[in-house]
Amino acid sequence: MNALARILAARIRGTGPIGLADFMTAALFHPEHGYYLTRDPIGARGDFVTAPEVSQMFGELIGLWCAETWRQMGAPRPFILAELGPGRGTLMADALRAAKLVPGFLDAMSLHLVEASPALRAAQARALAPFNPTWHGRADDLPGGPLILIANEFLDVLPIRQFVRAEDGWHERRVGLDGEEFAYILSESKTDFSGDGSVGSVREMSPQARELGASLGARLARQGGAALFIDYGYTRSGFGDTLQALRAHRRHDPLADPGEADLSAHVDFAAFAAAAAGARAFGPVEQGLFLRRLGIRERADRLRAGANATQAAAIERGYRRLVDPEAMGSLLKVLALAHPSLTLAGFEGEA
Ligand code: SAH
Repeated sequence: MNALARILAARIRGTGPIGLADFMTAALFHPEHGYYLTRDPIGARGDFVTAPEVSQMFGELIGLWCAETWRQMGAPRPFILAELGPGRGTLMADALRAAKLVPGFLDAMSLHLVEASPALRAAQARALAPFNPTWHGRADDLPGGPLILIANEFLDVLPIRQFVRAEDGWHERRVGLDGEEFAYILSESKTDFSGDGSVGSVREMSPQARELGASLGARLARQGGAALFIDYGYTRSGFGDTLQALRAHRRHDPLADPGEADLSAHVDFAAFAAAAAGARAFGPVEQGLFLRRLGIRERADRLRAGANATQAAAIERGYRRLVDPEAMGSLLKVLALAHPSLTLAGFEGEA
């Protein structure tokens, strides 16, 4: 057992099994041993690769989406441009390089980043220094006013609870001990979780995702703006167990070695959008379709025109990885929340 596992095991021995959300929170964000607090996990040498690290086109197109949304909002000045979980800052740096071509956008913008990891805050500071960002610990701490918010692979890290259907109703799945190893244990009493499902089926829900949806929805309805979420997820609720751990690009046992592997769960987009009542929800649409609607093919051709053969091949590989259904194009989905007066690029016919 590693140090964090010993801490969690002592807690379980003392007071009994803990909820999965508590286990995930500790594994990801324990102040001393949490996964995101002890490393930069992204990239070839880390545990996973994200879309902005695959190709600059991803961030550039999202930057143009932000600029177009700002224009739709009536070009307010000032406005808040925010990102949740900006990783290395690559997405925002690419986005701002593209959006600065739109007159007035950069001057009107005030940049705010929500990030828990000190290592990643340092990387973001390097990537985004010219834009003078302000950091926050939580989305609720963002300053008021018209908002454009983006978040790539953020919702899938928010801790989840899991429920298992028994004859008499839904019981919560908790993490207990089987000898020296963590194991799932069902709560003895029924929970008030409700939903359809045959005996043995598993359902997930993320209290934090719901709270975020509810507060963003209310804020966008009152103060205007839009929020764009790109994540692994499913369109209709009721998918089963989607908790997964990744370590060095391979699947890992989610309960083994807490703090040493990335833990995530697929996003229940329907539940997230429902929590955000007040705002209008657009999508989710598959990432490949969304990027094609924003013009990724034309952007790739334009970049290739000025590139040598090696660079051109890399641009095409990046395009394929972002768009192809077998790569990131289909499993990743895009959902937007917006003030009801807005129509958003990339979601034609989807609201
Ligand atoms: N968007 C980036 C990084 C994705 S990884 C990219 O696409 O490359 C998830 C990011 O969210 C990391 O930056 C992580 O530190 C941050 N994060 C996850 N949960 C968080 C929380 N509850 N509060 C603040 N930041 C969080």
